[in-house]
Amino acid sequence: MLRRSWIEISKRQIVDNYLLYKAQINTNQKVMAVVKADAYGHGSPIVAKILQENGVYDFAVSNINEAVELRNAGIRGQILILGYTPVESLDMVERYDITQALISEEYTDDIIASNHRIKCQYAIDTGMNRIGLNSDRVCDCSLAIRKAKTYLKLTGIFSHLCVADSLDSEADSRFTEKQIEKFRIVADSVKDLRLPYVHILNSAGGLWHNDSLSCFARLGIVLYGLKPDYVNLLPAGVRPVMNWKSVISMIKDVDVGENIGYGRNFTADRPMIIATIPTGYADGYNRMLSNKGYVLINGKRAPIVGRICMDQFMVDVTDITDVQRYDEVVLLGKSGEEELTADDMARIIGTIGYEIVCDIGKRVQRIYLE
Ligand SMILES: *Cc1c(COP(=O)(O)O)cnc(C)c1O
Repeated sequence: MLRRSWIEISKRQIVDNYLLYKAQINTNQKVMAVVKADAYGHGSPIVAKILQENGVYDFAVSNINEAVELRNAGIRGQILILGYTPVESLDMVERYDITQALISEEYTDDIIASNHRIKCQYAIDTGMNRIGLNSDRVCDCSLAIRKAKTYLKLTGIFSHLCVADSLDSEADSRFTEKQIEKFRIVADSVKDLRLPYVHILNSAGGLWHNDSLSCFARLGIVLYGLKPDYVNLLPAGVRPVMNWKSVISMIKDVDVGENIGYGRNFTADRPMIIATIPTGYADGYNRMLSNKGYVLINGKRAPIVGRICMDQFMVDVTDITDVQRYDEVVLLGKSGEEELTADDMARIIGTIGYEIVCDIGKRVQRIYLE
């Protein structure tokens, strides 16, 4: 292992998060594990395998390459592609027994015309305006779903909630209830087809909205121990699965008036001790953290000074005792009493924990702990 920049992923915590989540949702619901984007940066083949060993049979990804990667890693159950696959790649969908989302009537017609009798599930748009049939036109939905059932191997319908994590807004809660109701009406209109898979819930939906219709909660972010929204409270025991670590490559003294980093936009206003860390934005360490973020060293916060470079950045360790070169630095995770989660980091720069973990680059080594 190269002790430069790496993440440690707890297999135990993945399983714990899954089991704790499952205990909180409707007992008639199963969990479909959402492992798109390389399992939100955690490594999809390994995450999916651990879950398969613990009873998960259904997985969701974003594209055909992710789906094939899972099959090649020995994932046997249902793999649903939630988004678009070009018609010219449908051979692969068929060959690897993947289930494709039908994102529009036009797309479905193109698939039918291509003579691929693939497994598929129709996306229903209940208000997000991203993909799917407009649920307000119930008859059109019913006709389109029946057509897909006739010409393709249609196994279900699904929709997606867009504000299920917003718990303090009365209007947002009502919107989510309305989405679920619209989906139910569409599902009722094709009840006679007895489609085995009908589902609308994401992580937040499964926790905070009751929907007896859904056979699955599609569990993404909470599986990784992060929050759909920063203000959410997760079930007790659900914790981040990854720690991101690096080391101190060099320590130096800086005099009053000296600058640090590109653009000279940090100036020392006192004699400082500066540590350099060999991780940068090319590793997915967000450049917006320049002069804003912090890392943990010996259980203390060390503020970032100057701009994040491509492969390195600098932190202020003046007030931290006993800092040595080659010491371990926590970029995400716990150090002593202090903890810095991807959700915390996201809040500093005005994004979401999802983006922080998805952005962690390929050159950051993934290490799996039992
Ligand atoms: C990404 C995604 C999910 C998972 O959402 P989380 O908030 O991470 O649980 C579920 N369903 C669809 C359609 C998605 O695109």
